[in-house]
Amino acid sequence: MPKQPKKFIFVTGGVVSSVGKGITTASVGRLLVNRGFNVTPLKVDPYLNVDAGTMNPYQHGEVFVTHDGAETDLDLGHYERFIGKDLNRESNFTTGSVYGAVIAKERRGEYLGKTVQLIPHITDEIKNRIYMLADDSDADVMITEIGGTIGDFETPPFTEAIRQVRLDVGKENTLFIHVSLIAYVGPWGETKTKPTQHSVRALMGIGIVPDILICRSKEALTEEHKDKISLFCSVPREAVIEARDTKEIYDIPLIFERQGLANLIIKRLGLPDSSPDTAQWSSMVKKIKNPKETVVIAIVGKYTEHGDAYMSITEALKHGGAANETCVEIKWIESDDLQDESNIRDNLRDVHGLLVPGGFGYRGIEGKINAVKYTRENKLPYLGLCLGMQCATIEFARNVLGMEKANSSEFDPQTPYPVIHLMAEQEEIEDMGGTMRLGTYLCVLDNQSKSYKEYGIDSVGERHRHRFEFNNKYRDDFTSNGFRLSGLSPDGQLVELIELDDHPWFIASQFHPEFRSKPLHPHPLFRGFIAAALRQKANK
Ligand code: GLN
Repeated sequence: MPKQPKKFIFVTGGVVSSVGKGITTASVGRLLVNRGFNVTPLKVDPYLNVDAGTMNPYQHGEVFVTHDGAETDLDLGHYERFIGKDLNRESNFTTGSVYGAVIAKERRGEYLGKTVQLIPHITDEIKNRIYMLADDSDADVMITEIGGTIGDFETPPFTEAIRQVRLDVGKENTLFIHVSLIAYVGPWGETKTKPTQHSVRALMGIGIVPDILICRSKEALTEEHKDKISLFCSVPREAVIEARDTKEIYDIPLIFERQGLANLIIKRLGLPDSSPDTAQWSSMVKKIKNPKETVVIAIVGKYTEHGDAYMSITEALKHGGAANETCVEIKWIESDDLQDESNIRDNLRDVHGLLVPGGFGYRGIEGKINAVKYTRENKLPYLGLCLGMQCATIEFARNVLGMEKANSSEFDPQTPYPVIHLMAEQEEIEDMGGTMRLGTYLCVLDNQSKSYKEYGIDSVGERHRHRFEFNNKYRDDFTSNGFRLSGLSPDGQLVELIELDDHPWFIASQFHPEFRSKPLHPHPLFRGFIAAALRQKANK
């Protein structure tokens, strides 16, 4: 049981995955923040990985890193961006970590000879984590999103746990929101509510009656559809909320607000009523939707068709665009398509800036290095993130410093010039999970640099996720040739940020600034990068 009375909202999903539970959870959070409530979100993931760190982002989406160094599900990124506060490692847990903890307790003999079972031991562990986060945060409302879909093999321990939460803390302190898909079938795209009815029935079968239904749909729902959904799903008519596909995710809290969702939640949970402050959020959305300019930014990666793998980057570009009243069009370029000079030129001729994101492994590296060479030589604005900084370093070593075959020892352990090499603290590590340099570290800025101008402060905490770093042995070779080490760790030992002096805007960081960018607080490097792209466009 939580120590203090708290309000608990649970969000489940029906019919299909990717129905929008994450954005719904984030949007509900925003609605409550707009009314002055303190909100804490939690994502529980039903897979057996202990965390998202070992999962392939091209299958599962981006690995989001919290300030305290947890490798989490990308939904935490949505929560931070919508709710506007930094989360921590307790804000996301998986079946794998729950089982790991229960089995460890069993080995320590903590269950005193009892048979250890799914109910109550696994469900208690889940509830304890929910209550612990509720107690540790000063939140008025905790919103927990249950990953996966109702009916999946993996979800029952979680749905059983949240059913019990209602028994523990009372109906008046809990709210179940179910997000479900409205289907369209046949040549005329007939609206079908049956899959949603089935999904709600499955939920009821495990003892949960949803209080609110969010209906994800391609088209507007008629009154008739809503009546039908209400009747068959046992949800009051005013609690059937439409979530039509929309181009702009930041619009969703406003769309929900207009349908009375916030009032409904407040009434249902007995929270004090107040009028919402939506001015700041609305003006941000207006800016995004009514840009005065457009720039094209190329992102060079591998398997770039999986946009979810770069979620925080595309959002941060959008924020940087909004700060300049500019729409950022992204041109995805597969790094394998950048092998020779003519296709590099063809691919990059019409863009106003290039971004090389983070990544692991050798595949695609040479294409990225070729693209960086083009931006350096053609004075195209460049933003490099983590691997993007390492590629910029390798490119400069090879093509300016004449260090033939310079490389990162990650890609070529035999290179004669390991300008990027394994960090000392990483040398003995063998486990893959949670062992990188992770989370926020302070970076001290060179006050003569362009980066310093963008930030406007002396030092900044930024989030990391890497094993390799700039090799200090080569510092003098680089700095005496216009490659500025514009940000260092406080002890001066680690290169965190670099830039080129003889270039209008070429900045690359060992950290991931994209994780800190929020729609109401665009990250300075993204804001500056888009401003540089605008200048590039004007000069063309
Ligand atoms: N693979 C590189 C490293 O481990 C870069 C990591 C990244 O881009 N996140 O250092």
